[in-house]
Amino acid sequence: MSGGMKEMAELLRSGAKMLSHSCPECGSPLFQLKSGEIWCAKCQRRVVIVSEGEEAPEAGFQLDTLEQAIVNKLASMTGLLSREDDPGKLRETAEALNALLASLERLRRIRKG
Ligand SMILES: [Zn+2]
Repeated sequence: MSGGMKEMAELLRSGAKMLSHSCPECGSPLFQLKSGEIWCAKCQRRVVIVSEGEEAPEAGFQLDTLEQAIVNKLASMTGLLSREDDPGKLRETAEALNALLASLERLRRIRKG
């Protein structure tokens, strides 16, 4: 028997949470440290969870929210653009649209990893 159990007990005592995910390498339960890192007690290493779960998606959720906000803004600005006749304002709107599109593109690139 490896020292995994002892290590797990120590992790729990230090305030780490046991997660429902298991280590992709060894199948041991993973722990979330107080620092937020996911840790495998058996492999003695950090684990990055890539599949969907309940721990990592916090960042994913924020990106979704941001993406939705950008898309909504793009939609409302498109309406604005079609009603606008003043060349100066048109240019302003077009520039804002450009910036939003660039943000959206960057965001989608981040999400693809
Ligand atoms: Zn492991």
